[in-house]
Amino acid sequence: MTKPIGEGICVHCLRYVDKLTWDHVFPVSWYPHRTSPGIEMWKMPACHECNHAYGRMEENLLLRLAMCVDPEAPATKEIVQRALRAVDADAGRNYKDKLRRYKKRESILRNISSGDQISSEGIYPQLGERWGRPVDQQSAISVKAESFAKFAEKIVRGIVFIQDGHLIDDRYQIVFAALTPEGDRELDSSFRDHGSIHALEPGIVVTRIAPESDPCVGAFRIEVWGQFRMFVTVQLRA
Ligand SMILES: [Zn+2]
Repeated sequence: MTKPIGEGICVHCLRYVDKLTWDHVFPVSWYPHRTSPGIEMWKMPACHECNHAYGRMEENLLLRLAMCVDPEAPATKEIVQRALRAVDADAGRNYKDKLRRYKKRESILRNISSGDQISSEGIYPQLGERWGRPVDQQSAISVKAESFAKFAEKIVRGIVFIQDGHLIDDRYQIVFAALTPEGDRELDSSFRDHGSIHALEPGIVVTRIAPESDPCVGAFRIEVWGQFRMFVTVQLRA
């Protein structure tokens, strides 16, 4: 993933670097069926530092999300199994690998709360309790809001680059939102009527509303595994 591809501009930090790498817009480990042949992947050029930093953030976010998604749904079944293996020391190939998995597991466990410890605030829309279990049987995991925002920003930068070849520079502001079900419903007809769809189903579906006057400006709805949505707007700074 970090094989150099020559010089150019990093889509994330916009620095000109000698050695760009290919960064997967939708991370490889997030694909529901990684082993499917002929899988299409979106890639964008990124500097080594950004690629590496995103890789770590995405791995952490994925492990946490895997604890919240539906373990039986076709789009997330393998994701959940892979995440559980990733924190299973017994699956380690050698001592170092076992230790790495053990540490990941500890980090996950430190961020889990159960029963009435679970805060009723800040629950990500669509990722709350969906199985009707009593509170004392529920668990929750804390995830940095910033991780969702960064991940959503990456997808938007990637889509704008891949579709139009544009870089979103400092003149623009990228704003992330997790909408309530009401807010989501309110925007649904706009996205349905005016949005163009960019999808790698069942992993990710991005619906984009872009005015013709400025292809960097727009609204994006990003749905992951058919289970949760992130919203992003890109506007010119005042
Ligand atoms: Zn960079």
